[in-house]
Amino acid sequence: MKVYLDNAATTTIDSEVFEAMIPVLKDGYGNPSSSHFHGRKSKSIIERARKNIAKHLNCSPGEIIFTSGGTEADNMAIRCAVNNLGVKHIVTSRIEHHAVGYTVEKMKSEGLVDLTYVHVDEKGHIDLQHLDQILATRPKTLVSLMHANNEIGNLLPIERVSEICEKHGAIFHSDTVQTMSHYTFDMKVFDKIHFLACSAHKFHGPKGVGFLYINKSVKVKPFIYGGSQERNMRGGTENIYGIVGLSKAMDIAYSNLMEHKEYISSLKSYMIDGLNKSIDGIYYNGDSGNLARSLYTILSVSFPPTEISSMLLFNMDIMGVSCSGGSACTSGANISSHVLEGIEAPTDRPTIRFSFSRFTTKEEIDYTINCLVKLYS
Ligand code: PLP
Repeated sequence: MKVYLDNAATTTIDSEVFEAMIPVLKDGYGNPSSSHFHGRKSKSIIERARKNIAKHLNCSPGEIIFTSGGTEADNMAIRCAVNNLGVKHIVTSRIEHHAVGYTVEKMKSEGLVDLTYVHVDEKGHIDLQHLDQILATRPKTLVSLMHANNEIGNLLPIERVSEICEKHGAIFHSDTVQTMSHYTFDMKVFDKIHFLACSAHKFHGPKGVGFLYINKSVKVKPFIYGGSQERNMRGGTENIYGIVGLSKAMDIAYSNLMEHKEYISSLKSYMIDGLNKSIDGIYYNGDSGNLARSLYTILSVSFPPTEISSMLLFNMDIMGVSCSGGSACTSGANISSHVLEGIEAPTDRPTIRFSFSRFTTKEEIDYTINCLVKLYS
């Protein structure tokens, strides 16, 4: 049996998404920047997708800038905030994805900004009082905090953070790569958020495509220079097939959101119950075991240290279960991640991140638990 429990790293493409992309792959070859019939046809496909995505987010189409995925969207938000919005100081946490963490470190090393890390508690939650205190003394600040952590799943109270940012006049960017299309985002309600990042392959869309939401109240300049694509914000011929796939994946996600959420949450609870009953000495990293305060697609399990610890992931792979030891870039290597270090998790205990999708089944969870029981007996 082969089991895929690494959906936070990437998801399988939905067959309806694939079907929606085929006609564009076949016939949508016109360059969207060309003014002739074929070009206009491609351009209108892209603009239709942008309008559709904007409808899901209750924002205007001009606030959606297509990118090559989440990494580019995060880079774009941070670099544009510093280059164009007068940001001199960035507040972030030590448990952000490297798309944010390495970008802000680089900007600091270039002498462009000061950097402050907001406190994170042992459960992985951001200390909002500390954030408030930091912002009270520092104008021209960008706050970059992820909506859900990709390793432990902790959820940020995004609206509350946006209110704190507004109170102090800070720009707010949130990496929503793990939550977009898993939760609703009404940007008329979340009107104090300036930037959000999205990546299609996290919700059964194609890889290599995503977008950055840019609130129309902020005016930024081109991020990638070249042609005048994406309203002059990002040069480069658009990934039209990817954009169509992204739009379709979002349609499917948002038309069945509650149903998918309930189903996936029930799988997560089922796995927690099963693990608690079968293996002694496990716990859940951060607040991963708490359904109210963590992403329903992620369960980060801390296992007792034994002689098999270092080979746990490897053994799971041999038994046919694909899961992860941390973030995608450290898959396969069961080393302590910056997130687990950031919440001061014990370094001698192996961690496995199991992540689910609407295609995951109870049988797959049973099989996975059985494999773990075999390894721990
Ligand atoms: N941000 C988070 C929280 C992620 O989980 C990921 C992917 O692992 C990214 C950003 C990067 O997204 P992409 O793979 O589309 O570049």
